[in-house]
Amino acid sequence: MSRVAYVNGTYQAHGNAVVHIEDRGFQFADGVYEVWSVFDGKLADYEGHMQRLGRSLTELRIDIPMTAQALGVVLRETIRRNRVRNGIVYIQITRGTAPRDHAFPKGVAPSVIVTSKPIDLSKGEALAAKGAAAVSHPDTRWGRCDIKTVGLLPNALAKQAAREKGAYEAILYDEMGMVTEGSSTNAWIVDENGKLRTRDTQANILRGITRAAIMKLVAEEGIELDERAFSLEEAKRAKELFVTAASSFVMPLVSLDGEKIGDGKPGPIATLLRQVYLAQARREAI
Ligand code: PMP
Repeated sequence: MSRVAYVNGTYQAHGNAVVHIEDRGFQFADGVYEVWSVFDGKLADYEGHMQRLGRSLTELRIDIPMTAQALGVVLRETIRRNRVRNGIVYIQITRGTAPRDHAFPKGVAPSVIVTSKPIDLSKGEALAAKGAAAVSHPDTRWGRCDIKTVGLLPNALAKQAAREKGAYEAILYDEMGMVTEGSSTNAWIVDENGKLRTRDTQANILRGITRAAIMKLVAEEGIELDERAFSLEEAKRAKELFVTAASSFVMPLVSLDGEKIGDGKPGPIATLLRQVYLAQARREAI
């Protein structure tokens, strides 16, 4: 099937879709992105991701001459042209193309690209049913991880280290040995006292849209949540460990650095939250 990408106002064959070598995304990682999961051709957690995109752009002072509504049209059209039923849609907005100079260029239009690809949901389901492995990795990122920038090299290095150890995710930790988040996910535990915990967003982490959606569901389910950092050691002693993200929903982790978490099987809280999150995301996708 031929794939199509949106690049600065036109739809192009994916294989030929390019941006300029002096695009500031390429030169400086001077850009932001968002990812929505797609169910039956519709976008999950639509507003949350759109609002975070707006916030990321504002934080970097990138002025985009397109309304959120127009962006929504492009996202949907890209999904449609790629005939994606279940999968993801990705948008990247950079400060644009300008002669290489660290300071912001003047009068330059941002670059906007959108891609979409199908995902076989049954693979994620199979992994979630047996639980995934994780390894720990030092968090070497910058001080503004709340902005969803394309400067993902430390995240990519951490994920690669995980893959080389046969693990699904790298759990990042700070100088105090406290977990920050996953390399592309937010991290949660059910601690040894049975309390659900995830790190607060005052810390230098991404404010996950899936994290926020799960927090609402947790309240509806009557589960108490302690928004408080936990250490790697606490994660290893936890009854449950799991991560959340738009592309993996809720993924139970059953080992960390080769040590079994709980009884080595996906726990009841992660399993319940995955079910209720998926049901809601499908129901409310627009
Ligand atoms: N943390 C990081 C570092 C991420 O890259 C992501 C996903 N892009 C997340 C958390 C999860 O965020 P969301 O639930 O909005 O996908």
